[in-house]
Amino acid sequence: MRITPLSSGSQGNALLVECGRVRLLVDAGLHVDELEARLRAIGVRPKDIDYLFLTHRHKDHIRGSTELCRRWRIRILTTRSTARSLGTECHRLIRRIEPERPVEVGGFQLWAVPVAHDAPETMALLVDDGTFRYGHATDLGSIGGAINDYLTCCDVLFLEFNHDPGLLAAGPYPGPLKRRIGGTLGHLSNEQGAALLRRLAHPRLAHVWLAHLSATNNRPELALAAARAALPLGCTARLAIAAQEQPSPAVDLAVLSLPVEVA
Ligand SMILES: [Zn+2]
Ligand SMILES: [Zn+2]
Repeated sequence: MRITPLSSGSQGNALLVECGRVRLLVDAGLHVDELEARLRAIGVRPKDIDYLFLTHRHKDHIRGSTELCRRWRIRILTTRSTARSLGTECHRLIRRIEPERPVEVGGFQLWAVPVAHDAPETMALLVDDGTFRYGHATDLGSIGGAINDYLTCCDVLFLEFNHDPGLLAAGPYPGPLKRRIGGTLGHLSNEQGAALLRRLAHPRLAHVWLAHLSATNNRPELALAAARAALPLGCTARLAIAAQEQPSPAVDLAVLSLPVEVA
C-alpha cells in the first residue's frame, strides 16, 4: 500500500491510495486542472484512477470531482447525501455506500465511518488491503463515536490537526465562524487531534500525517509538538504535515515494513 497526499487544508483536499494495481483517490477538492497537474507530478495519469471516495460535500473536498470523473469515467464511492451534491453528468458513475458496511474494491476493503461535522453524512475512512491498514479522518468536530472502533491498529493515520484554540480566538475570523470551527460539528484542534492520536497509537504505527491545518489559525510546530507528546512510549511513528500547496512525499508501506537487519 502506498499513500500520497496531494493537497490538505481549506483550499482543497485530495489524497491517493494505491493498493496493488488499484488506485483510489480520496476527495477531489482542487480544481480539476490543478488536481490533474498534481497527479502527473507524482507520475500518475488521471485515467489510471479507478475510484474516487468522497468524504463529504463541502467544496474543499468535492470541487473537482464531477469534472474529473466525467472526463476519465472514474467510479465514485460515496453516501447518498454527498452524491446529491454532484453534477448529474456523473450520476451513473456513483456507487452509493452505507456507513460502517464494508465495500470490496479491487481486492481491498474500505469502510466509511461516520463522524460529527456540519455536512450530512460526513465520513472518515478505513482502507484494509489484508496486510496494511490506513485510517483517514479530517473534518470532524469531536473525537467520540465509531472512529475509535474502526481506526485501531492502522499502519498509517491521516488525522486532522486544524487549529490552535488560542490562535483561533485571537485571529481575524468573525465570531460565528470561530464558533463553527471550534464547535462539536467543526474541526479538531491540535489538542483534540492529539487526544485522538493517543487513543489510536500502538507500537506498529509507522507514520502519521497531521492534516487539514489552518493557514490562519495554526502553526506546523504547534501541531507537531501536540502530536509528538501524544505518542506513547515505544511508538516510533514518523510525524509529517500534509501540505496544502504541493503533494507531500509518499509513504510506501511495503518499503517501510521491510525487516531491519540485526547485526
Ligand atoms: Zn475540509
Ligand atoms: Zn468539511
